[in-house]
Amino acid sequence: MSAPTVTSVTAASPAARAGLAVGDELLSIDGHEPRDVIDFQRLADAPDPSVLVRRAGSPLGRLVQVPKAAGEPLGVEVSSAVFDRIRTCDNHCAFCFIYQLPKGMRRSLYLKDDDYRLSFLYGNFTTLTRFTELDAERILTERLGPLFVSIHATDPELRAHMLRNPKGATSLRWLSVLLDGGIEVHGQIVVCPGINDGAALEDTLAGILDRFPALASVGAVPLGLSRYSNEPEMRAHTRDEAARVLDTIEEWQDVFRRALGHRMVFAADEYYLLAGRPLPPARHYDGYPQHENGIGMARAFVESFTRPGADGPGGVRHGFFASVDAAPAEGYRAPRLALAPAVASRDERPVTILTGAYGARVLAPLVDAHHREDVALHPVPNDFFGGNIGVAGLLTGEDVGRALHAVGSEQRCLLPDACLNEGRFLDGLTLADLPRPVEVVPTDGGSLRRALDGTSFHPVCAS
Ligand code: SF4
Repeated sequence: MSAPTVTSVTAASPAARAGLAVGDELLSIDGHEPRDVIDFQRLADAPDPSVLVRRAGSPLGRLVQVPKAAGEPLGVEVSSAVFDRIRTCDNHCAFCFIYQLPKGMRRSLYLKDDDYRLSFLYGNFTTLTRFTELDAERILTERLGPLFVSIHATDPELRAHMLRNPKGATSLRWLSVLLDGGIEVHGQIVVCPGINDGAALEDTLAGILDRFPALASVGAVPLGLSRYSNEPEMRAHTRDEAARVLDTIEEWQDVFRRALGHRMVFAADEYYLLAGRPLPPARHYDGYPQHENGIGMARAFVESFTRPGADGPGGVRHGFFASVDAAPAEGYRAPRLALAPAVASRDERPVTILTGAYGARVLAPLVDAHHREDVALHPVPNDFFGGNIGVAGLLTGEDVGRALHAVGSEQRCLLPDACLNEGRFLDGLTLADLPRPVEVVPTDGGSLRRALDGTSFHPVCAS
């Protein structure tokens, strides 16, 4: 176990007044050693906590009293979210994207976590194959939800086959325990053609209705395949297969609506784009419960582009960090980039919007309807990952840089912030590594529209 280390102290906060400083290790709070930032937050919520602090270079800790009210933020950020070990997964899924990453990327990208705490904190999906009685007890006692569970198949044999782990056959029993305990849980099915689509997908949806009707929602997402996959069983969906998945999901939405009063299962936006079908209307998404997983994101984008002032998705904002301060989201779902407020200065230059292949398909009709001949779309091919990877979130600096060479120097270049994680592309490059300046625009329709109407977004980074 490593103690949380302070990485920033908020000015004039209780921690600052008590003299806590960056680099301090917080060994215990009121005599308890926090295992993770969930414990940390609970302990730090107490009034006037006694914090055992070890300052850098000192072998011993000293007790610091921090005068503060109950519930008042302590005012520190700490170095990680989990202070004991992150639980890694014991599965070997053929569709795992981590196995499809090229060598030499950031180490944190290769971490196969399967830890319910990261599910609670960041919205990561867990298969529950390493889940224990103690975990269930903690979740139920501390009401740690919503959680996000990978289902893939409800047939025990098929699930074990997909996870390549015999425990996959039985670990969904924990899902029943969580749902029976009233925890909000959202599920996911990664659909692999020829493996768990067709009759197997029908069987899974029937299994959900039968065994897990208390799930809050289920997202069906297509297998993502990079050119680094060496799994012969894995292949991308054809257009017809994508259409059949949509037919199945839509039929089952009716079944769920009749049985439970809500649609339960939703298809990822990629399916509509792959099948060449129109996106469903906003009301179809029942409040966008899986927006963060690319389900309804395209529809929400269109709505906020075409109806300025329209509310964004009202569904689950994934992860505990949507509401509390404490640890940074480093390595998981970190902030894309600290964007300074937009400035309302007109910029009359012609515009090029760079985005992924799928993003371009969503944007094309919007740009056409905007009646601006000086706005061009530039879909950036994902040469880095290859395969069927077309989402903007997986664009790398290398590919964006190559695309920028083909854009005229008089153009304003807009780039969605979905490509960045704490200011870095997946390949580790930053905006400063690009061959020319770009404006990074938050990935929502309203922000893009404001950018097209002339508002600049900062930072505008030059090489
Ligand atoms: S459970 Fe997730 S992280 Fe683990 S192998 Fe499967 S896809 Fe990869």
